[in-house]
Amino acid sequence: MDYSRTLLHYSLNIFILIGSILAGNCNKLNEQDQKKTPDRLGEMRLKMVEYQIEARGVKNQKVLEAVRKVPRHLFVPEHLKNQAYADEPLPIGSGQTISQPYIVAYMTEQLHLQENDRVLEVGTGSGYQAAILAELVDSVFTIEILPELSQQAQKVLQGLDYKNIEFKIGNGFYGWPEKAPFDAIIVTAAPENIPQPLVDQLQEGGRMIIPVGDFFQELYLIRKTAKGLEKERKLPVRFVPLQGEP
Ligand code: SAH
Repeated sequence: MDYSRTLLHYSLNIFILIGSILAGNCNKLNEQDQKKTPDRLGEMRLKMVEYQIEARGVKNQKVLEAVRKVPRHLFVPEHLKNQAYADEPLPIGSGQTISQPYIVAYMTEQLHLQENDRVLEVGTGSGYQAAILAELVDSVFTIEILPELSQQAQKVLQGLDYKNIEFKIGNGFYGWPEKAPFDAIIVTAAPENIPQPLVDQLQEGGRMIIPVGDFFQELYLIRKTAKGLEKERKLPVRFVPLQGEP
């Protein structure tokens, strides 16, 4: 009797011991798992900056720092999270795309942004480019023609606590006259010609980076000087078309 009670007692203890070891390990695994996801994405982000962006010649340290910081995977649909740091544009719904990481960094660098700048973005899309700009300047004004994309971008950017971005739903061809003039303008959808309202809303000394064209597009850097507009052709690119051109 005594013997079997002791045996029962031991067996119970052994069960409890094994149970707690398993539970302990499971907890550890869970902790590691939880840590692994953001770390793994963070590592992918650093590699993206090194191999896709620095390797192709982007040098501005502030731009590189912003791209290292902003969690691009939060701006793509959940099922594409693992591709967020790949060297390509990705679909974001409603037939639109988030630009390739290199193009975002390149266009941002070309604007030569200063801390106090006010920047207009045409084509909010996922909100990723707006986040990069918000890391670098005082205020960002971003216009999106598709309400569902603007609302989704607002949700993500507010979740990340950006307070220096203002959103507008509307046709960015006409810019945002109430908030003009802007020190810099970035257009992330391609018109067939440079929209005059955007040129008008650019401050003297201001810079605009814009893809222009139909099927074949070129990225232009435009500077507004006292003498007029300076246009410089930069790269062949492929953006979604700017909708609602008059
Ligand atoms: N900058 C975005 C990429 C956007 S793709 C990002 O970081 O994700 C281009 C976006 O421009 C699309 O969301 C498209 O709906 C929007 N767009 C197209 N025509 C527009 C217009 N006339 N005014 C404002 N946005 C426009």
